[in-house]
Amino acid sequence: MNDTARALNFIEHIVEEDLENGFSKEHLRFRFPPEPNGYLHIGHASSISLNFGLGLRYKAPVNLRFDDTNPAKEEQEFVDAIKRDVQWLGYDWNTERYASDYFQQLYDWAVELIKDGKAYVDSQTSEEMAEQKGTPTEAGKDSSFRIRSVEENLELFEGMKEGKFQEGEHVLRAKIDMAASNMLMRDPIMYRVLHRPHHRTNTDWCIYPMYDWTHGESDYIEQVSHSLCTLEFLPHRELYNWFLDQVYDEKQVRPKQREFARRNLSHTVVSKRKLLQLVEKGVVKGWDDPRMPTISGLRRRGYTPESIRNFADTIGIAKRENLIDVSLLEFHVREHLNKVAPRVMAVLDPLKVIITDYPEGEVEWLEAENNPGDESAGSRTVPFSRDLYIEKADFREEANRKFFRLKLGGEVRLKNGYIIKAESCTKDDNGNVTEVQCTYDPKSKSGSGTEESLRKVKGTLHWVSIEHAIKAEVRLYDRLFADESPDTHKDKDFMEFVNPDSLKVITGYLEPSLKEAKAEDRVQFQRLGYFCVDPDSTPGKLVFNRTVGLRDTWAKVQQKD
Ligand code: ATP
Ligand code: MG
Repeated sequence: MNDTARALNFIEHIVEEDLENGFSKEHLRFRFPPEPNGYLHIGHASSISLNFGLGLRYKAPVNLRFDDTNPAKEEQEFVDAIKRDVQWLGYDWNTERYASDYFQQLYDWAVELIKDGKAYVDSQTSEEMAEQKGTPTEAGKDSSFRIRSVEENLELFEGMKEGKFQEGEHVLRAKIDMAASNMLMRDPIMYRVLHRPHHRTNTDWCIYPMYDWTHGESDYIEQVSHSLCTLEFLPHRELYNWFLDQVYDEKQVRPKQREFARRNLSHTVVSKRKLLQLVEKGVVKGWDDPRMPTISGLRRRGYTPESIRNFADTIGIAKRENLIDVSLLEFHVREHLNKVAPRVMAVLDPLKVIITDYPEGEVEWLEAENNPGDESAGSRTVPFSRDLYIEKADFREEANRKFFRLKLGGEVRLKNGYIIKAESCTKDDNGNVTEVQCTYDPKSKSGSGTEESLRKVKGTLHWVSIEHAIKAEVRLYDRLFADESPDTHKDKDFMEFVNPDSLKVITGYLEPSLKEAKAEDRVQFQRLGYFCVDPDSTPGKLVFNRTVGLRDTWAKVQQKD
């Protein structure tokens, strides 16, 4: 989509307003702040497209910042995957940052807060603290440690840092207001003891800052002007502002937090925690399983970066949560692949056809266009011979006039080849057709005359020459969840809605031009859908994933012949 042509979204309006009110354009700065506790999913694509889109629109830097405050759940594997995915989507970040780079600064600020009487070490158990929290309508109770002296707090906090205490023995809390109507303001925890190595700081620290203390301050350190996050952080805004007030210097840019709605996609889940369950329980083969709504899963499925960006741009951002139908995502990949994917022929459910009057042993290499909508895509040749495969569904012994495929006594064109006529068929003991005997019209060869001089028939079928066909494993995917919104049921776990038939593996017979296909090559199997080469392919064995079916197969084939 032409980015400057569309209407401004509400976040862009906020930025415009700030510029009108005198905020200097040079100070605009954005960031995309993933927590490296899983792979990016299609929901993240909205946030990426928003933040990097703002960077492009205003020629402002966009940082990629990993909010890596929880060593228990974070791993280098996730950092690498996130970088790979953002890059693959086509975005460049200004600098790569880590919240863990700011651990020292955050610690120093926490010490200042203690000195100012604005933070204290609480030595209660987490259960005791939870009991004192109160309810939204009832004030909480002060911890007995809230009146600890500055000196004692400083000494204990330092002890926490030096590893003198066990996990859970002490925490550092902000001293705000236990009666605040916003429960998040009731003396939130800033630090906890965690004797865990961190994927970047290793064992340097055994206290870790909480996300709420880290996130807003990291934006401030990076001088992010507009700190954009999803709606669940709206109630946190007050707390982030309180934390900022403690360290803010008026000469600096003060990040402005604004919230937008999470994007949910139908028939799947977009939560790293839930996606992790699918991986850990073996429901899928990994984070990049082509059924996953992760960026790497979609990539492996055959999606293009353009199609995901166009999808994210089209749905834009919203102020309220809603469910986007997965068919809209499929529409975008079809639209893009229709432009860029070469057409090839493959038969996935083969039925043998013998052209009885075609000379045995003869092979003709027929010219085939790679993309009817794009002349520059050129052409290739496909071998034609006496023994062919067509799809089982393309033949019936008898059928009414509306059946434009092959029936006994009827004619069809073989794509790029001849018109054939079904004369007879052979059946097995169960009455299943095992072979169709046909004759052909030697004067009907595609491309052998002008468009007008060629005889026309209603139906066109794809096919492959049996002798030349290459066998491939073809993985057909269905929705991973049978339910439209699996994680919104009150009394049922989302795992109960997993579709047990989301993967079907079959053998396909492909035209030989695909012999050299490489992982991630995307093609259209004519009349069947878009497919791409899976990285599981080896030199001897190609593996294809079905990206998406064609919507209106027949309309398309009819138009062209
Ligand atoms: P998850 O629940 O999947 O772990 P998260 O919000 O915890 O999501 P982060 O790594 O913290 O994941 O997300 C990075 C950024 O992407 C955040 O600004 C977050 O608000 C945004 N984001 C995450 N999920 C979505 C979504 N479904 N739609 C839009 N933005 C999202
Ligand atoms: Mg998170």
